[in-house]
Amino acid sequence: MKLSNMLISTLRETPAEAEIVSHQLMLRSGMMRKMASGIYNFMPLGLRVIKKIEDIVRDEMNKAGAQEFLASAVIPAELWKESGRWDVFGPEMFKLKDRNEREFCLGPTHEEVFTDIARNEIKSYKQLPLNLYQIQTKYRDERRARFGVMRSREFIMKDAYSFDKNQEGLDTTYNKMYEAYHNIFKRCGLECKCVEADSGAMGGSGSAEFMVKSEIGEDEIVFCTSCDYAANVEKAPAAVEKQAEEEKLELEKVSTPDVRTIEELINFFNIAPEKFAKTLIYKADDKTIAVVVRGDREVNEVKVINSLGGVVSFEMASAFLVKSVTSAEVGFAGPIGIKTDLLFVDEEVANMYNFIIGANETGYHYKNVNYGRDFEGRIGDFRKVVEGDTCPKCKKQLTIARGIEVGHIFKLGTKYSKAMNGVFLDENGESKPLIMGCYGIGINRTMATVIEQNHDENGIIWPLAIAPYQVIIVPAVMKNEQQVEIAKDIYSKLDNMGVEVLLDDRNERTGVKFKDADLIGIPMRITVGKKVNEGKVEFKLRNSSDIENIDINEIYNRIKKEFIENNLKL
Ligand code: ATP
Ligand code: MG
Repeated sequence: MKLSNMLISTLRETPAEAEIVSHQLMLRSGMMRKMASGIYNFMPLGLRVIKKIEDIVRDEMNKAGAQEFLASAVIPAELWKESGRWDVFGPEMFKLKDRNEREFCLGPTHEEVFTDIARNEIKSYKQLPLNLYQIQTKYRDERRARFGVMRSREFIMKDAYSFDKNQEGLDTTYNKMYEAYHNIFKRCGLECKCVEADSGAMGGSGSAEFMVKSEIGEDEIVFCTSCDYAANVEKAPAAVEKQAEEEKLELEKVSTPDVRTIEELINFFNIAPEKFAKTLIYKADDKTIAVVVRGDREVNEVKVINSLGGVVSFEMASAFLVKSVTSAEVGFAGPIGIKTDLLFVDEEVANMYNFIIGANETGYHYKNVNYGRDFEGRIGDFRKVVEGDTCPKCKKQLTIARGIEVGHIFKLGTKYSKAMNGVFLDENGESKPLIMGCYGIGINRTMATVIEQNHDENGIIWPLAIAPYQVIIVPAVMKNEQQVEIAKDIYSKLDNMGVEVLLDDRNERTGVKFKDADLIGIPMRITVGKKVNEGKVEFKLRNSSDIENIDINEIYNRIKKEFIENNLKL
């Protein structure tokens, strides 16, 4: 492609609304433009990257035995009502009505649609296993659309849905998807970590997220500093360290006027935070729940919710509710005599001796509290893992980092097939629910994440595999006919070889051309300048500062070498 024929829309200034590098660079390089909050139009260069990522995804999905479909993005409400999700999906779903007042939504995900396809098409175990995928636009009216296409309201997702006749079949399919995802992200040039999204306590995980470490990530991930353990912070089990045994002292009520927070308590009692426990009160549906954790810990609400099993709403109690269950002002809650429906006690607290807690009386705390003797509750792991905690796998230290979720694989089991009567006849002619899995990759989020990992102060540094174009040729002086002729000649030869090549034939200064090439992130640059007199051109990789002076005839082999090194075909 000749740049003189292209709509090039690079910006020198960073648009004010873009907070993160990938968003800034996608706008500055003219890959995309914003149309409305969380809604973007892709421009030719950006679209080429999207297509490249899609091709990699398609290739790996096909290799793993999945078949490509394309479902409609407009989904009738009936399907969602059958699964029970029409009313619970919430405001993220874009709902609409047709001229006859029939309800539809713009698909935020397609479990219902693919369960419907499967139940209509699959009759017998002989048709299983089956793995169907599509690369399609999804709609989610995100509460916090931000960071460009990292979290947008319209985005392209590869979503796959697998159908197996039994659990072993699902395990095999899931493992194939796991492999395929590793290959996909590796080929896209992403350094990615697979994070078990549940504790593994049930013997093998049913869900895993593919995470890319990044400061701007919205997820918190726990990593082991020694082994390969990684988990979502919400799911990572917290180890309980045995406390040094102490003689249980007599319970004592202490007057603590205006001493409410842990900091105030530490100052007042002048002892370490590990000697306090705090009691948090929540409202879960119509029940009031208290959770006791060590003073310096945080309640992991996901663990509490999981332990409750299937709650719809879960929130911190209002000051009014706190007063009614503790008979005290906020700041003096404690487990002794609290009037909640359920009392959850973190294992760590159950192992502490002679600690301090609120007395459920304004201005008072209890001292020398001991679990079992002074109060009892449901013991469990209810706290958030912190940096330095023990790895559940190898017992070494854990560390915490932020991450971007680019993909998610999930064993669904029979949730949708049971709700929607997705059944097949097994070997004995018995009707059985299909065993399902689902597997998603955010295509535009992957694109943005690659930029987060591959850029410098001048712009994007595309990995060769997904670059919009692979080579850019810059004639240094457009008025120099010899330079322009040679540039054109190299251009057509590379084009014939199948290299995706740009020729910057604009009447611009070389500096401007270099700036644009760097901003757009073209992996290889050939400059046709003064040295053509000696039969040489300059060759430069975007990710290196070295400039190689190469014989014009050698340029083709030099480029081929890059393809070979990147495991790409020409
Ligand atoms: P998140 O926790 O980030 O909201 P999710 O759990 O809602 O993600 P899934 O429903 O598992 O995401 O969707 C599969 C993939 O689609 C995600 O791994 C992510 O790459 C992508 N994705 C989800 N929501 C968005 C969005 N609003 N914008 C861009 N990509 C998205
Ligand atoms: Mg989401």
